[in-house]
Formats: sequence, structure tokens, C-alpha cells
Amino acid sequence: MRSGDSLPPGDLPRQFASRTELQATLRQLFPEAAGDLSPIRGGRQAAAAALAAIDPGAYGRSRNHLDGAVTRLSPWIRHGVLSLVEVREEVFAWLERSGQPPQAAAKLINELGWRDYWQRLWRQLGDGIWRDREPLKTGHAPEHYANALPADLLEARTGLACMDGFVQELHTTGWLHNHARMWLASYVVHWRRVRWQAGARWFLQHLLDGDPASNNLSWQWVASSFSSKPYLFNRDNLERFSSGRYCRVCRAATDGTCPFDASYEQLQAALLGAPSC
Ligand SMILES: Cc1cc2nc3c(=O)[nH]c(=O)nc-3n(C[C@H](O)[C@H](O)[C@H](O)COP(=O)(O)OP(=O)(O)OC[C@H]3O[C@@H](n4cnc5c(N)ncnc54)[C@H](O)[C@@H]3O)c2cc1C
Repeated sequence: MRSGDSLPPGDLPRQFASRTELQATLRQLFPEAAGDLSPIRGGRQAAAAALAAIDPGAYGRSRNHLDGAVTRLSPWIRHGVLSLVEVREEVFAWLERSGQPPQAAAKLINELGWRDYWQRLWRQLGDGIWRDREPLKTGHAPEHYANALPADLLEARTGLACMDGFVQELHTTGWLHNHARMWLASYVVHWRRVRWQAGARWFLQHLLDGDPASNNLSWQWVASSFSSKPYLFNRDNLERFSSGRYCRVCRAATDGTCPFDASYEQLQAALLGAPSC
């Protein structure tokens, strides 16, 4: 049905002459939604092309790098355009074609397993995914965390090129690499001391793959309410897995004010309180 045609009540137009027409229609229907369309395309055709392009071997070797061979399938998986079984079958077909041993595809199969696991847990826990699964291991009580995200973060003006870059990417594309999600979540919870729920709500507003199970339980893993210790990172780690793209252009990286430029021991001493008995 084209955007100009009359629609049954409650239905939305599905066919557009161009992306511009799609954007104009969405602006009209959802005036409260800010920003332009994400460059990521929906639909089965785009999903099938992305699925055909996966390289599980390269994925296993490079998935932690921002430039690594990650699949970017998550928005289609999230909305049911691709099933996990289809992705698994494509991985098996790649193994057959490439003659590689099964271990070559193990990392990607593991990650599909994480998605499945979080979904099953959500079914069990229901709204419990919004509550701390365990006490925090940060040495700080939950009430010592702010309830709202700070404005400088939301407006991408923290002065830290990495964090501002991630926020802009999240807001304009609706997708972030897994490592960027981990760094940004850790910064929010441990450096800015904001409750993980505020960060989780913000991600769900913007991510095209926004999924309460994968999202909230990953935030809890970073925060330490669903893991044995808080997830912290330092500049070495971020610089290595981003190939230095942010540090090269960051004032804080050169003027000695980068809050991540420290050893893990120093960061733990600065960010974590005394463990509670
Ligand atoms: C703070 C935080 C929030 C997150 N929020 C979401 C979310 O709302 N929705 C979401 O789908 N994922 C979420 N993830 C998990 C992960 O970051 C994304 O699934 C992944 O980055 C999507 O990119 P990709 O398709 O290239 O993944 P790939 O690495 O190519 O993996 C292939 C598929 O496996 C699944 N997968 C991969 N990693 C994970 C993981 N760690 N947990 C669960 N499933 C995984 C996804 O379906 C993904 O599409 C979050 C992670 C963190 C640290």
C-alpha cells in the first residue's frame, strides 16, 4: 500500500517511492521522534544480503575490534526478519563450503547462543530483568547512583572523543558495535555513577535491535548485578580495539585528562568503594 492511498484504520503505509518519502511520512506520523532515518535498511532483501555476506572465520578472529567482521544482523534478528536457526544454518553452510573445522565457527555460534539464553531468561524473569539480579560488587549502594543520565552525555559533549562518538553513532544510526556498547555502558555506570536502568532505557529508545533481554542483562553484567565483578576498561584497551581512531583526535588523550588512561589497579582504586561484607 502506497503512502498516499487510503489505509484501513490503524494500518501504516508500507510502500514508498523513495527514502525521502518514507522519511517525510514518518515525520508526519511521529512528530515527537527527532533525527533522520538510520542508514540501516529494514526488510527481508537487505537481511538476506547481509546474511549471505557473513564470514564466521574472520568473525572469530576479529569480532572485538570496531573494524572487525561482525555480522550486523541484530536489527533483523530482533524484529524476526531473520531467525537464529537461519543464521545457524548459514554458518553450517559456510563451514561446508570453506572446509574449515567446526571450531572456526564456534565464536559466532556462541554469540547466537547468548541471544537465545537471554530470551529464555526473560521468559522466566519477566519484569525482573529491570531489577538487580544480585547485589552490586562495586562497593557502592544502589542509592549512590544517579537516576538520570547527565545532559553532557546525552548531548555528546563530554569532551571525550570516544564517548561522544559512540553517543552520536547511537543516536544517528541506531546501532553500536558490542565493544562500544560495553565501553559506553561502563562509562555511564562506573565513571558517571548512574544507575544501569537509566542507561538501559536510553539504549532501548535508540537501538534498532533494542531488546529488553539482551540489553538489560548486558547492562547488569557491566554493572555487576549479574556478574562476579564490574566491567571496567582502560585507554589501552579502547585504543587497541578502536585502532586509535578516537584517541588520535581527542584533546583529553593528549592533555593528560583522559579518565581512562590508567592501569586496572588504579581504576579499581579510584572508581570502586570498599567491598561490602
Ligand atoms: C550494554 C549492552 C547492551 C546491549 N543491547 C542489546 C540489544 O538491545 N539487542 C541486542 O540484540 N543485543 C544487545 N547487546 C548485545 C550485542 O552487543 C549485540 O547483539 C551485537 O553487538 C549486535 O551486532 P551484530 O549483529 O554485528 O552481532 P554479532 O557479533 O555479529 O553476533 C551475531 C548475532 O548474535 C547475537 N549476539 C551477539 N552478541 C551478543 C550478546 N553479547 N548478547 C546477546 N546476543 C548477542 C545477536 O543477535 C547478533 O546479531 C548489548 C550488549 C551490551 C554490552
